[in-house]
Amino acid sequence: AVLTLRPHFYPQSTLLLDAKGFDIKTVQLVGEKGDKTLTYKYDKAQLSITLDRAYTREQTYQVRINYVAKPNELPQGGSAAITSDKGLYFINPLGQERNKPRQIWTQGETQSNSCWFPTIDHPNQRMTQEISMTVDNQYKTLSNGLLVASRKNADGTRTDTWRQSLAAAPYLTMMAVGDFAVVSDTWHGKAVDYYVEPRYKNTAKAVFGNTPEMLEFYSKRLGLDFPWEKYAQIAVRDYVSGAMENTTATVHGNTIQATSRELLDTQYEGSESTIAHELFHHWFGDYVTCESWSNLPLNESFANYSQYLWAEHKYGPDQAGLVQQHDLAAYLEEANDKREPLIRYRYQNREDMFDRHSYEKGGRVLHMLRKHVGDDAFFAALNHYLTKNKYTAVEISKLREAFEETTGEDLMWFFDQWFMQRGHPELKITHSYSNGQLLLRVRQMQDTLFQPIYRLPVTVTIWQKDKANDHRITITKTDETFSFLAADRPSLVKFDSEAQLLGEIDEERSSEELVFQFYHARNYLQRAEPLELLHNKAADAGVSGMYRNALQDNFYAIRRSALDHLRAYRGSAPTAVRSEIQHFATADPSSAVRAQAITTLASFSSENFSTVYQAGLRDSSYLVEAAAVAAIAKAPTPASFQQVVAMENTNSSALLVAIAECYAKAGTMEQYPWFLRRLPDVNDLDLYAYLQSFGAFMVQMPVIEREKGVKTLETLARTHPQYYVRLGAYKGLLTLVPSNPALKETLRDIRDNEKDERLKAYYGLI
Ligand SMILES: [Zn+2]
Repeated sequence: AVLTLRPHFYPQSTLLLDAKGFDIKTVQLVGEKGDKTLTYKYDKAQLSITLDRAYTREQTYQVRINYVAKPNELPQGGSAAITSDKGLYFINPLGQERNKPRQIWTQGETQSNSCWFPTIDHPNQRMTQEISMTVDNQYKTLSNGLLVASRKNADGTRTDTWRQSLAAAPYLTMMAVGDFAVVSDTWHGKAVDYYVEPRYKNTAKAVFGNTPEMLEFYSKRLGLDFPWEKYAQIAVRDYVSGAMENTTATVHGNTIQATSRELLDTQYEGSESTIAHELFHHWFGDYVTCESWSNLPLNESFANYSQYLWAEHKYGPDQAGLVQQHDLAAYLEEANDKREPLIRYRYQNREDMFDRHSYEKGGRVLHMLRKHVGDDAFFAALNHYLTKNKYTAVEISKLREAFEETTGEDLMWFFDQWFMQRGHPELKITHSYSNGQLLLRVRQMQDTLFQPIYRLPVTVTIWQKDKANDHRITITKTDETFSFLAADRPSLVKFDSEAQLLGEIDEERSSEELVFQFYHARNYLQRAEPLELLHNKAADAGVSGMYRNALQDNFYAIRRSALDHLRAYRGSAPTAVRSEIQHFATADPSSAVRAQAITTLASFSSENFSTVYQAGLRDSSYLVEAAAVAAIAKAPTPASFQQVVAMENTNSSALLVAIAECYAKAGTMEQYPWFLRRLPDVNDLDLYAYLQSFGAFMVQMPVIEREKGVKTLETLARTHPQYYVRLGAYKGLLTLVPSNPALKETLRDIRDNEKDERLKAYYGLI
């Protein structure tokens, strides 16, 4: 490696570099009259080089370091979002693993790129770069920037050189090598490429093809064209994170690739939102970078919010509302155990920053900021922030300043309560009406010893018959009552009718008011909420009418939710409701809705909708097939069991899980080899359920026959890189304990050797 450096301010006679686990061969100063050997100290983490003299900030110098990186010999670390930290990964290096291509790829965030090249591995550094890779000629390469040279060597190898002329932080450097098909798009003359395994070549555009339109949309919305030299995305095996926004060369996990059948089941939040997220990082993260991991929300909250922005633009407000709903639920779930400020200058481990606070909560906070300042000001302020801070590292104050300079308002209160303090508002809303006056009482119930008393500007909508009146109020106290004139008793009082607030809001409403809300809703969340809240009243006449009406909704998530809440329905018109559900199981355009309809039918435990299940087995969607198999698994007949057996060679991971469930219930020794044979074809996320079914399946087998299966589960429970797969394998073994008490000792040993904090906490409860 050759590094070109210049001191930032103070004169420098020593250069300190991050370099983890290298064998250092030589360190030299590059000079016009030849290289000069330098002395150095190296402790396997940092390389301290004594320069030949002191250099000032006006003077540039170059060092050449000859080294061997040994990532596989480094001790393991990582986080929830990024499960390993050795930087450089060799996948199936000897070609011995079945169904797995040979690949090399890297993962730099947070500070892992210094496992394969010497650098100052901090997000506040910036560099241009040139990387050369020598590979067997059959392989493709990818790195940041542009391919500037490709040279065939005499020994049959090829050397590719990639150069990035615009400066980015060291954690954003990447390289990848493997047998990829490259499918090409373009945007304003810049290359937009998708690197996929050759068998996914024909569907690459169906997966990634909206990228040019996203580039256009974000460039326009931000008033700043995508600044980098090209944009490539690559899907790699055994990836250790969700995806990574390496400048101009985003890495995805291989599960983003899909066959045309799998694409029928792809949801926005599955892969397209990830594509949007990583692209948006090229403004927020790569162009303007968080100065320290404490300021990570300046990267991740924006990338998270871009998923909302693209959904809103491309698919409309309902899809955007669904994103918002999931984000809020994800954050609130985490907030049960942990409430931290978004900007955290104190943390145990920098990897702790990669949580649902930095992502989901931060995205929702940006949405509130947008609602508060208005669309024009919001995007003008983002443009100001990006333009003013381009190619630099920033702290949260830079964002506040950009909004204050744009709007002319003091926004310290907003940034303080949402970015600098922990928690969220927990509101209790009640109202009363008498003599033409409506009183609305708002109480802040959160523990204000460690959470702020919030200032909350919101809209309250008062419905009288079919007429709505909006009122803007600002809450500033823990207990406040607002009064409004209203000629008649309101049909509905809706607090935060824009559904923009982040928090837990307990609004007192009667069933009648909630049903009224459903029929008069202005947005997805207002339609979705009554479906959730009235679940226990589904048998009431007005409420069941609402659910049946919701089946006709234009947005699939509302239809799916209505079907979900009609499980085990016991209200009026039982026959009509059942036939409606059956209709949706075969006729709905959304596979998620058809699958839910089948699951709902299967909840009527003493009834058999075998005609519908049969149709489900022939559905074009794997998701629907899997739901039909799961429905059949509840009470298989010899004939229906044989139909499931006939599907056991499927390519669908989701379907393998459903078949495993069926075999666990009604299988025989004959299916034992199947569990072992298909295991490598199940996705990590699906393995959690598959392995538990495998355990349940083995319960019926004689202990002596189980050896191979038990060994497989034990190995996975000890060594699989994903903690939830280890847990699935552990639970699979646990079901075998009653018939094989000797396993108790094995399980104890697995628990004792677990390193993951989440699993340790879970095992601690046992
Ligand atoms: Zn991200």
